[in-house]
Amino acid sequence: MTDARLLPPIPVPDPESAGYWESLSTGVFALSRCTECHRWMQVPQEHCRWCGATTSFEEVSGRGTVFSFIVVRHQSIPSLTPPYVVGMIEFDEQPGLRLTGIIEADPDAVAIGQKVQAIIRPIGESGFSAPSFELVP
Ligand SMILES: [Zn+2]
Repeated sequence: MTDARLLPPIPVPDPESAGYWESLSTGVFALSRCTECHRWMQVPQEHCRWCGATTSFEEVSGRGTVFSFIVVRHQSIPSLTPPYVVGMIEFDEQPGLRLTGIIEADPDAVAIGQKVQAIIRPIGESGFSAPSFELVP
């Protein structure tokens, strides 16, 4: 029997985020985008926060820059062994388009402004996947 305390957190999609999780489960990293003004938004929203039009999910490059980060040095998620880095990534697609995720790198190697690339990782055996990030030269 699997010890539930050792499992990673599993997403609980809602109508606005379902497309995000569904695309990741098929290996596509997609974020919410306005169908009229074409601005990206994270967190996903049913209607554009700028013009009110509908949104859809579109694939992003996964390329971005470390906007901020922390190094987790104490065990807070049983499936992640510290130290590890949680970064806020600003995507190349649009200034201010940011998402938080694990940066798979030595904590001493991470700095604000570094370039990263998203990689899609399965969340345990849940059927869900989530983006992590790796440093790129
Ligand atoms: Zn819009």
